Amino acid sequence: MGKIVVIGSSNTDMVATASSMPLPGQTVHGNSFTVIQGGKGANQAVAAARAGAHVTFIAKVGDDDFGKQAIAAYETEGIDTCQIEIQKGCSTGVAVITVDESSGENSIVVIGGANATFQAEELDEIEADIEEADILLVQLEIPLAVVEKALRMAHKYKVQTVLNPAPAIELSDELLGLVDILIPNETEAALLSGITAESEESLNLVLDKLLQHVNEAVILTLGSQGVVYRSKGGAPIHIKANQVKAIDTTAAGDVFCGYLVSFLSENNAIDEAIKLANNAAAISVTRKGAQPSIPFIKELK
Ligand code: AMP
Repeated sequence: MGKIVVIGSSNTDMVATASSMPLPGQTVHGNSFTVIQGGKGANQAVAAARAGAHVTFIAKVGDDDFGKQAIAAYETEGIDTCQIEIQKGCSTGVAVITVDESSGENSIVVIGGANATFQAEELDEIEADIEEADILLVQLEIPLAVVEKALRMAHKYKVQTVLNPAPAIELSDELLGLVDILIPNETEAALLSGITAESEESLNLVLDKLLQHVNEAVILTLGSQGVVYRSKGGAPIHIKANQVKAIDTTAAGDVFCGYLVSFLSENNAIDEAIKLANNAAAISVTRKGAQPSIPFIKELK
């Protein structure tokens, strides 16, 4: 069993559906309400745990019921939650989502809450967890200074680093130099490389450009097209997605990242790990929601 440390966001998603969106000042009667654990960090931690890895999740929640419920949910997944800090006087990160059932459109208010209070210095207390890990997995829903310090620590102990640069923001070459494997989607890759991949040729240029900064490999996820990846010194390789009837692609990228690191930590070759992660992500798009859609390892064919 590989040891994964995930550092990232923990959110509570509150989803209300209604036949129409309320206009400013208007109240409408809705049809359903669901509370779902989310946040890219948490989704990826749960995916890695369901894939069979030993996962330590390092995150911050608020001192409210949502924070307590989130920690309890991660414990049910077998995730080590000892390093999740409860931030006094602060709310847990939340996303308040309203879905218009007739058009399928949604409007979302995201509150960073405790995620936004994460300070780089707080990582000093968890240095030993990073040192003991096989892989560190990070995303960008927490302050960038925390991500950068975590990558630096992992680099110091020669722990493999994986960055899912989501949501898309510009990153310095110095930060990318601390990353072993980068997993962007098309939007993130375009922002980071300055090239929009519209053809196979431009796709290769994107991989080329990003590989100049990253240490081992770039895995570009392409939704229903699967992934194109390239390792240093190798040629671009396209691994197709499983053909499924997608009903909700929320968290597909998170499932891919969590499963990928779990398989890599068990010493699978990168192409093998990608195939298995593709498999898991394809299952997740056939189900609704974020964490409820993440498959367990036994469901993979
Ligand atoms: P994305 O973040 O949209 O690039 O998706 C991440 C990964 O999820 C892809 O690389 C695929 O492995 C999987 N995936 C996403 N959408 C689909 C789909 N419609 N059918 C099958 N697999 C998908």
